[in-house]
Amino acid sequence: MNINSLEGLDVRGKRALLRCDLNVPIKDGVIADDGRIRASLPTIQYLISQGASVVIMAHLGRPKGERKPELSLAPVAKRLGELLGQEIGFSSAIRGAGTAVATLNAGDVLLLENIRFEAAETSKDDSERLDLARELASYADCFISDGFGAVHRKHASVYDVAQLLPHAAGYLVLAEVEVLKRLTDSPERPYGVVLGGAKVSDKIGVISNLLDKVNILAIGGGMLFTFLAAQGKEIGASLVETDLIPTVKELLERAKKLGVTILLPTDIVVAPEFKVDAPPTVVSADSIPMDQMGLDIGPVTATTFATAIAECKTVFWNGPMGVFEFPNFAHGTQVVADGLTKVSGISVVGGGDSAAAVRKLGFQDSQFGYISTGGGASLEYLEGKELPGLTALL
Ligand code: ADP
Ligand code: MG
Repeated sequence: MNINSLEGLDVRGKRALLRCDLNVPIKDGVIADDGRIRASLPTIQYLISQGASVVIMAHLGRPKGERKPELSLAPVAKRLGELLGQEIGFSSAIRGAGTAVATLNAGDVLLLENIRFEAAETSKDDSERLDLARELASYADCFISDGFGAVHRKHASVYDVAQLLPHAAGYLVLAEVEVLKRLTDSPERPYGVVLGGAKVSDKIGVISNLLDKVNILAIGGGMLFTFLAAQGKEIGASLVETDLIPTVKELLERAKKLGVTILLPTDIVVAPEFKVDAPPTVVSADSIPMDQMGLDIGPVTATTFATAIAECKTVFWNGPMGVFEFPNFAHGTQVVADGLTKVSGISVVGGGDSAAAVRKLGFQDSQFGYISTGGGASLEYLEGKELPGLTALL
């Protein structure tokens, strides 16, 4: 599977329609983390350097086809202009932006308003999406897909426009896919995967698909309690998805047959309630008190996980080991993240909360091999699913 790369597309002096992922957290009109805008810069800068005029499509949140002022991309346009060091245009029209596009000169950038304000963008009806895509395609000579966080969506600005214009992947999409390939096609061994986060149901597909590829699978976070429950252990008031216990049992059986080392916690940090100042106690994973809930992996487990990971040549980590938002329950995540920084091959952090966790805990992005920008898209890729936005670029 080879994706058309940017250098192979004739963009010199052309009008380029570019899909970016500019879906940044905004609170009271202030951008809390501009990481995704920064990650989009290399492709935009390349297009500018080629004398292309650039029309950018992006989304923010889930407006579901309604013009919601709090989901306007206007603050993003401002920040993007600052980061590019040039003034950029903003069009509140999405359909009917042709006149604004016509005024663009070489090197100009125009950001269209939140593309999901158009209901057709996310429509399940192919002809509705195609109709919007035709109008978007009429703005440009070529299409560049760089919104990695949305490539698992069959949306007009992601999938359909690629059918209508000469196209290529931007640098961010190429980088993300290259990393994901290293995690799925002949990874360097030993290969360790660490999964945590709140829900097993979010990650079960990834575990299932990666099981016959990995050497070590370490389980932490809220999802570990469904694993302990599957082993018949008492889990007190911890998070659990009872309906998934049979599936987890099957996975554990399969892992045994495949010779995959499954690391489950031997000690747990528990508390009487889910609260920032709840008093933490370390207990054995075999004796979680009935009235307590597990909010982090214990210190012995954290060291075991970190040591095992540090010796791997390929590591993928998704999902915090505990409730890292509360300092008393961030230790497991801290120690495991530290283990990742010692990996001599490639270490990949995926997932929005996981990326936020390592930054909050004081790590630098450069200490890891790669921090993925696309949570859902990366997970679906690792589940072995076909991503419409990537298939469209083949
Ligand atoms: P990501 O966004 O990296 O994929 P998830 O969204 O799956 O991660 O999970 C992140 C959340 O999991 C965090 O908000 C964290 O507080 C929560 N979490 C981790 N461990 C536990 C636990 N033991 N009990 C409840 N929630 C937990
Ligand atoms: Mg999350």
